[in-house]
Amino acid sequence: MSAPVVIVGGGIVGLSAAYELLRRGRSVVLLEKGAPDHDSCSLGNAGMIVPSHFVPLAAPGMVMLGLKWMFDGESPFWVRPRLDLDLARWGWKFWRSSNQRHVDRCTPVLRDLNLRSREIFLRHRQELPGSFALETVGLLALCRTQETLDHEAVFAAKSNAVGVPTEVLSAAEVRRRDPGIDYAIAGAVMFTKDAHLDPRELVKLLTSEIQRLGGRIVWNAEVTGWRKEGARLKAAVTTAGEFAGETFVLAAGAWSPAAAEALGLRIPMQAGKGYSMRLPHPVQRPKYCSLLMEARVAVTPMGDALTVGGTMEITGNDLSVNPARVRGIRKAFVKYYPAFKESDFTELPIWSGLRPCPPDGMPYLGRTRAAENLVVATGHSMMGLSLGPVTGEIVAQLVCGEPTSVALAEVDPDRHA
Ligand SMILES: Cc1cc2nc3c(=O)[nH]c(=O)nc-3n(C[C@H](O)[C@H](O)[C@H](O)COP(=O)(O)OP(=O)(O)OC[C@H]3O[C@@H](n4cnc5c(N)ncnc54)[C@H](O)[C@@H]3O)c2cc1C
Repeated sequence: MSAPVVIVGGGIVGLSAAYELLRRGRSVVLLEKGAPDHDSCSLGNAGMIVPSHFVPLAAPGMVMLGLKWMFDGESPFWVRPRLDLDLARWGWKFWRSSNQRHVDRCTPVLRDLNLRSREIFLRHRQELPGSFALETVGLLALCRTQETLDHEAVFAAKSNAVGVPTEVLSAAEVRRRDPGIDYAIAGAVMFTKDAHLDPRELVKLLTSEIQRLGGRIVWNAEVTGWRKEGARLKAAVTTAGEFAGETFVLAAGAWSPAAAEALGLRIPMQAGKGYSMRLPHPVQRPKYCSLLMEARVAVTPMGDALTVGGTMEITGNDLSVNPARVRGIRKAFVKYYPAFKESDFTELPIWSGLRPCPPDGMPYLGRTRAAENLVVATGHSMMGLSLGPVTGEIVAQLVCGEPTSVALAEVDPDRHA
């Protein structure tokens, strides 16, 4: 048997890569620093599959919006001010990328990645044993004010023009489509190709399917370095010993920069912390997942439960919970869904996760000059669940010498090296 492909990281990206490689008959070793019951950003997220997200985070207007939010303790965005050269460089690159030319170049790439991923999710639903609930009913971008709705209607027209279909809905139409749910809104944009699922369910299924197909998952194996000979990696050095392989895949989410740096590769990401809470018995259960546009909060029905999440805090790789920002999420949620009360959230555990955020809002995906047998697959920011399957497919295509489903120029891992 040929030497295995060694994958670093057991989040949605690493698992998707392992699964696609196993489907192609490759042998796989997946190294995960956590235990089998470990948490990761891939577990507590809002579970949205988002062809609607074809605009990268670094876009015109985002820097001004971010600066405005910085002064509100309950706002959805915050950067902890600190003397940190990496953060300063990240901020500079973000600012430089926040222009229309960047958005125009990246839009078709993000659209194609998301649409291809959606197709693979549909295939997963058929082929993963036991299957999982995948709701392909669309996503509602809920607007409290007419001003926001008018603004979103302009975006909806752009979305239609790039091939991501939308409908602009009045408040009455939203209520007609989701009877029995109280919505305090001026209206909404429906992104009909978006979908949602319970990420915990998907991660669990993929993990057991990988093992059933003969993939080896090594838990409590934190990659701390590499053994390299010439231009090729020979082994990943971990807290559980060395793992030799033929090809290596770096899919360690927000922790990827440290592992890459050991190879002289700069992937200058910041962790974007977010929170979620899961209402196990919501007083109402909407049919659709929704984004609360003024508040940047995400709401997703998952089975009988309802997950409410949001915020983006750039505070380093730190999972601590900021109560003011969690309060901001709750306060916003009950404004749009008035049947709920803030007290519904009392005593619920608060989950926090770290999104891997590159400064230009585009993933790092592809081969790198750092080592000829390394594939980098990280930096999916707020779209990692959505883009997990297509990323897994592209990793497997690169390893197996197949053409990739989407061109990779805009996601080149060496672009900031
Ligand atoms: C509140 C919130 C809501 C979100 N909602 C959505 C959504 O609706 N839709 C969407 O598409 N995305 C969403 N996201 C983003 C999404 O969750 C992430 O982009 C995605 O989970 C990233 O996956 P990953 O596999 O790259 O990283 P992770 O899930 O972080 O996995 C990385 C894994 O690598 C392991 N690891 C790290 N370093 C090492 C090492 N040195 N050695 C071995 N193992 C290592 C970690 O333990 C971890 O298990 C949301 C995020 C947040 C915070």
